[in-house]
Amino acid sequence: MEQKKKTFMTGDRPTGKLHIGHYVGAIRRRVELQNSGEFDSCYVMIADTQALTDYYDDPDRIRESVLEVALDYLSCGVDPAKSTIFVQSRIPELFELTCYYLDLVTLSRLERNPTVKSEMKLKGMEESIPVGFLCYPVSQAADITAFGADVVPAGEDQAPMVEQCQEIVHKFNSLYGETLTMPHLLLPENDSCKRLPGLDGKAKMSKSLNNCIYLSDDERTVEKKVMTMFTDPTHLTINDKGHTKDNPVFIYLDAFATDDHFRRFYPQYENLSALKRKYEDGGLGDVEVKKFLARVLNDVLDPIRKKRHEYENDIPGVYKILEEGTRKAEEKARETIFKVRRALKINYFEDKKLQERQSKRFRKQHQDEENLKAYLAKQKKG
Ligand code: ATP
Ligand code: MG
Repeated sequence: MEQKKKTFMTGDRPTGKLHIGHYVGAIRRRVELQNSGEFDSCYVMIADTQALTDYYDDPDRIRESVLEVALDYLSCGVDPAKSTIFVQSRIPELFELTCYYLDLVTLSRLERNPTVKSEMKLKGMEESIPVGFLCYPVSQAADITAFGADVVPAGEDQAPMVEQCQEIVHKFNSLYGETLTMPHLLLPENDSCKRLPGLDGKAKMSKSLNNCIYLSDDERTVEKKVMTMFTDPTHLTINDKGHTKDNPVFIYLDAFATDDHFRRFYPQYENLSALKRKYEDGGLGDVEVKKFLARVLNDVLDPIRKKRHEYENDIPGVYKILEEGTRKAEEKARETIFKVRRALKINYFEDKKLQERQSKRFRKQHQDEENLKAYLAKQKKG
């Protein structure tokens, strides 16, 4: 029996260039899924409207970052022949859907979202939160459902968003009949990739925290950044026993280093387990491990940089890809919006049967009135 093909939908906010957290948390998987043959539709969105919910005072940043994110996608292997890459703001159907979904969510539910809560705290928004920002999980539910996605490949911070979306889908389908597809979050398999920490040891590498290695950083910058990295604060001299858990250098190695990297760059150790054992036992310095990490990262980033360079030489071509993708995505979103309007019974102009039924009702009402009048007149006469 032929297996049912699936749809995935995912995206990033154009608030800056993409970093290696995005790569391991989302993009690497996306490219694998796109090439797996298991999906007949792959949607990758540049979420500029969502970015405006907290960067509304800096439209230039978003304008520039749309291109940066597109370049990062293409250079990582998101292939426009297989994945529809598009820009959120140019698809009005998404805003119409958001509007309907807002009726299905309470204010207290939105205020409970842990990712939104921590972002509000980070951005000092607790006292005066823009309504648009508080509601972005609802608009994200519109993005996911508009394309009928059953799979959402993303990092751990997206779990509350997908949960919110599932609640909306459940409520919508229960109230108005089976219409929307139920999505599921697909997390990276490797725990270290679910939420890659920042260079400063903070819980998450994030554009907003300025603690990132960017996909477009050059070799020298990567080396320098790795050398500044936070490691085990109790590992003061080479001979001290070290901790590999909660140590960003080892978390990055978990996310990026392969046995082949060991063979090529660090043959003294067979694999990461052997290296970890040595660090934990004492006798291995941070600088040496960092040098290896920088080589691993540059090995992964090198082909990405080369591809980026090619696309940078054809910016009009990149915009053409975005324009074409956006047109294709809108076609799909329009199909969904027609279904949603039908379920909500607001498809007045498309539903010809509605007019027929209503005409019939009035014809019958008028006929009944005529009949009653005739009957009464007859009674009076008699
Ligand atoms: P911003 O600070 O503007 O919110 P961000 O760095 O958090 O930016 P997003 O655009 O919000 O990035 O996230 C896009 C995708 O990348 C999501 O799927 C998210 O889970 C994933 N992601 C972002 N940062 C990391 C990280 N440090 N580790 C793993 N995945 C991440
Ligand atoms: Mg984010």
